[in-house]
Amino acid sequence: MIALTASSSMLTEPRLTVDLDAVGHNTRTLASKTTLMAVVKADGFGHGAAEVARTALANGAIALGVATLDEAIALRAVTDAPILAWVTHRASDFDAALLAGIELAVPSVDHLDAITRAARTTRLAARVHLHLDTGMARDGAPREQWLTLAAAARRAERLGQIDVVGMMSHLGLGEKPGHPATAAAVTRFVEAEAVLRSVGLRPAIRHLAATAAALNEPAARFDLCRIGAGLYGIGAGLREAMTLTAPVVSVRDVPRGTPVGYGHSYVTDRATRLALIPLGYADGIPRIASGNASVLVRGRRTPLAGTVSMDQLVIDVGTLGVEAGDIVTVFGPGDDGEPTIADWARWSRTIPHEIMTGIGSRVVRSVA
Ligand SMILES: *Cc1c(COP(=O)(O)O)cnc(C)c1O
Repeated sequence: MIALTASSSMLTEPRLTVDLDAVGHNTRTLASKTTLMAVVKADGFGHGAAEVARTALANGAIALGVATLDEAIALRAVTDAPILAWVTHRASDFDAALLAGIELAVPSVDHLDAITRAARTTRLAARVHLHLDTGMARDGAPREQWLTLAAAARRAERLGQIDVVGMMSHLGLGEKPGHPATAAAVTRFVEAEAVLRSVGLRPAIRHLAATAAALNEPAARFDLCRIGAGLYGIGAGLREAMTLTAPVVSVRDVPRGTPVGYGHSYVTDRATRLALIPLGYADGIPRIASGNASVLVRGRRTPLAGTVSMDQLVIDVGTLGVEAGDIVTVFGPGDDGEPTIADWARWSRTIPHEIMTGIGSRVVRSVA
């Protein structure tokens, strides 16, 4: 009786289950190759930032990395480990960052000025990582501004306003092993370190690589790698940690030639059973995957029928005997033949990161 009650409440809603053991395994695997900063931005790529942070730090990560100051400050409640934030603005609340002991990426003299102002207000020295662009023209300082930034940082360090603890950059082609752009970035990074030394700075932590380069480009590892994707199972030999399930809400038996859903993009080619699943693109099921995607039900892969709607999708379950209340696995680690997040990414012509971070807020999460 008790088991029935528990499982029937499980059946009522879509559920995202996060397997922290997989995150632990992935962290240990990567930490055996490199010194690891666990990147837990965007709520740990949708897995839960606090839980992933604790798990990664318990399995060999030595620091945490996030994009925004709000993300960093929230994590301070979880750990005393170093936390680095790299997407800030000169109007960001650097006082709060320094009071919480957050380390800051510095991509410009503007940022540096705002941070030294906060250092004077709080009477705390900011721990900073000077941030260089080595060839993707995104968030680091352009190379022609590096010497100016270095000299300004050296002055601020002499005044006790900052400690330059690190230097960083990011690769635009880390996914392509052996790409010449990566070798060029490594060379620029090394030259930029020489510039820092020439003005008297000695950054102890040099970091360039994220997951892909950490796995494939030993020359890019330097003192630390910023690992996001790998923690969550993106990369060879790693294990995906998310499983998304949903109940079948209803079934209907239809004749051959029945059009299904918006646009009638699917028409049944035989008499069959259709099953309704309460998940749609507002929950992060990519509409563009319609026509390619399948899910697991009763141990079998069954295709989506027609276009994913905002809140619902339909699957064609043929003669599997599917009934309302059956549980469908939308994705998981793949052990039982269910699709993986990597499959959904391929069906949607995107990368797994976008599927992971796109799961909507209506989906109940359980982290274990
Ligand atoms: C997101 C991000 C990372 C993590 O990249 P992965 O490929 O997910 O490991 C590392 N560094 C920076 C600057 C990032 O923005």
